[in-house]
Amino acid sequence: MSNPSLLILPGDGIGQEVMAEVKKIIDWFGDKQDLKFDVSEDLVGGAAYDAHGTPLHDDTMAKAQEVDAVLLGAVGGPKYDDLDFSVKPERGLLRLRKEMDLFANLRPAQCFDALADFSSLKKDIVSGLDIMIVRELTSGSYFGEPRGIFTENNERVGINTQRYTESEIERVARSAFELAKRRGNKVCSMEKANVMESGILWRDVVTEVHQADYADVELSHMYADNGAMQLVRAPKQFDVILTDNLFGDLLSDCAAMLTGSLGMLPSASLGAPMENGRPKAMYEPVHGSAPDIMGQNKANPSACILSFAMALRYSFDQGDAATMLEKAVESVLAKGIRTADLMQADGGKAVSTSEMGDAIINELNANV
Ligand code: NAD
Repeated sequence: MSNPSLLILPGDGIGQEVMAEVKKIIDWFGDKQDLKFDVSEDLVGGAAYDAHGTPLHDDTMAKAQEVDAVLLGAVGGPKYDDLDFSVKPERGLLRLRKEMDLFANLRPAQCFDALADFSSLKKDIVSGLDIMIVRELTSGSYFGEPRGIFTENNERVGINTQRYTESEIERVARSAFELAKRRGNKVCSMEKANVMESGILWRDVVTEVHQADYADVELSHMYADNGAMQLVRAPKQFDVILTDNLFGDLLSDCAAMLTGSLGMLPSASLGAPMENGRPKAMYEPVHGSAPDIMGQNKANPSACILSFAMALRYSFDQGDAATMLEKAVESVLAKGIRTADLMQADGGKAVSTSEMGDAIINELNANV
């Protein structure tokens, strides 16, 4: 049987630096765990624009559709700020998400004990936190029609439309329930059914999917504004939070900051199952290309490395390998090994991007 395939798109700025560390980890799993991948690499974002005049070449798009998973670094940078909107680096990323139809965005908010002091919340509120936000990514207010700025009665009117079909709600609800079954078996669905019809439909469809196929998972509903309050009051009450595109944008950023640095936050975007049963998938750190620190070998590679751990778990059914990698990152932090972004909280010694990658590999080696 052939190895599972992985397309690596490092992108721009620190995307290339952090991905270099992920490549070492991928090699480690191949050498030491006999977990081998057919890895190919290509350009996205500004790097693709420089080479081809487009932020995503059609050939790269075609490759992304064929592989088992895509791993992306980050795109963008000041060099590209004045480009036309249609060829900006971010358009490459949006095209990948859209054409692969990645409708479920998974953002874990996990607080490693060693970083609990880093949160803006009290340590006992976040210590041991492990929640997952499932955000609908391809519909809702950011895509609904009509949209635009129009003139009515001699003044301008800005319009966006919150629109969801039953099937769009159903498929993302299924993703959340499936995920919950592998975790704490609880889903809290968030909308504004008190003031929005789309919220009423959301609640109805989630309840129907639950009753039909996932009655063994604990389901609760919460208005999204209360959800925001509960996330900062008592975040550990949640396991999986299911929500729409707009509320998910806000709630996932809020949850992310419970845990500290952008350099620690992975994400996954999943679509429908392919013929081999694996979902279409792209894994990427939440952070951008960080032009302020690029080229200085000081970016934290953990978010990108933890994104690869998510790929191991959700695309390749390698939950044990994923846990091994996550534990290695946790142990490195527990030893006080930190990149510069994790410094101010407890004044540990800052290491470089490559030293952080090597420390994680040392930890993996120590545990095999
Ligand atoms: P950013 O995430 O790149 O950086 C925000 C701050 O966090 C910076 O101070 C940066 O140094 C720091 N930071 C981010 N990742 C880090 C890491 N791994 N280690 C250490 N520090 C880290 O966001 P920005 O500055 O708003 O955007 C910069 C560029 O990235 C822009 O062109 C933006 O459009 C693009 N961007 C891309 C993505 C993506 O590719 N998914 C996401 C956000 C922003």
